[in-house]
Amino acid sequence: MKLSKLASEIAESPTLVLNEEARLLRERGEAFINLGIGEPKNKTPIAAILASGAKLSSGEVKYTPPDGLPSMKKAVIRYTEENYNRLVAPENVIITNGAKQSLFNIFYSILNPQDEVVIVAPYWVSYPEMVKMCMGIPVVVTPEDGTFTPRFEDIERAVTSSTRAIIVNSPNNPSGAIYPPALIEKIVDMCERKGIYMICDDIYHKLTFNGNVAPPAYSFTKKDIEDSHIIVVNGVAKLYGMTGFRIGWVVAPRQLVRVMTNVTAQTTSCVSPIAQSAAEGALNGLQSVVEALRLQIQNNCEVVLQEMKTFNGARLIKPQGTFYALPDLRAFNNNSVEVSKFLLKKAMVVTVPGKEFGMEGHIRISFAGSVKDITEGIARIKWALDATSPNEIYIGEKKMVRDWL
Ligand code: PMP
Repeated sequence: MKLSKLASEIAESPTLVLNEEARLLRERGEAFINLGIGEPKNKTPIAAILASGAKLSSGEVKYTPPDGLPSMKKAVIRYTEENYNRLVAPENVIITNGAKQSLFNIFYSILNPQDEVVIVAPYWVSYPEMVKMCMGIPVVVTPEDGTFTPRFEDIERAVTSSTRAIIVNSPNNPSGAIYPPALIEKIVDMCERKGIYMICDDIYHKLTFNGNVAPPAYSFTKKDIEDSHIIVVNGVAKLYGMTGFRIGWVVAPRQLVRVMTNVTAQTTSCVSPIAQSAAEGALNGLQSVVEALRLQIQNNCEVVLQEMKTFNGARLIKPQGTFYALPDLRAFNNNSVEVSKFLLKKAMVVTVPGKEFGMEGHIRISFAGSVKDITEGIARIKWALDATSPNEIYIGEKKMVRDWL
């Protein structure tokens, strides 16, 4: 069968592959634990349910403008003013099918073939693949060993005359790191000096712990949004745990939004008005749901830290936000794909290999789920890898004895 070279070279989404494996295990009735998926367990906020329900009951479910329902854009404008202290115009906003489509449309709209995008490791799995899909070249900058924060000098060194953008994701998936204000300030300054876009993937910006805040790039420029090179991506998936509604948005200079609108118009037309209304409901509704989710996730993070204390050999840098931890397991095995496969087979725990995020030797553990799953999942991982942990464990009803260490 003849397929496009470009499409054939795109990697599978490892997290979605793992979820499929987990689904098969569940169907077989196995007592597996999924620490792979980045999806909070909360129910959809009631304001979102009511707003989308009202839209559906109206029977007026038609195409919307390609850049989004005006009322949804208004909600995003208010969100931007409240959270970023920036008053933007409707022409600066586009609503998309999840933050994923936001990012793809941005890359498609700014890249010419062979243009480079600087990506900081560890990075979200989809960035390099999306850049390649848009004929660009991902240029990865890796922090010093044992850290998750890049050095500005290394970023600057990676920038060439072909660099069109740098993508910054802080709080970071998969490490949970928040980049310090001084680093963000230097990146903003560099992007403005060199005319490079700074794409801020802010999808986790409210999911931070113990008073940590992720400094927004806007706070380091006095430039008007039209002259600035900052592009902000956000969405409801992590903010409200509304992953299935597929709503994201971009705030950017209007010229870019105009091009992105054409891209949407010729590909997906628009986002479903039912989903947009749900997101609008969430944004305009009681924001205590965000704080409730944040507190729950912060508590889960404490549970992870507590459990990891007795994991001899594993090194963990404390996450400051998101719902991911990225322990370094090189004391056991440098090959993270092997580790994740081993954990799935022996301990029936789904994790994601760090290799997928440009951080070999680590595995990503999601703590978005229940405390029970986190506690039991980490206990099983310790049992499978750490010779100093008890060598018997119950997995479901079965008593398992470790005989490989
Ligand atoms: N950016 C990052 C860093 C993410 O982790 C995710 C979701 N895992 C997305 C973007 C995409 O979000 P959405 O579900 O809104 O497409």
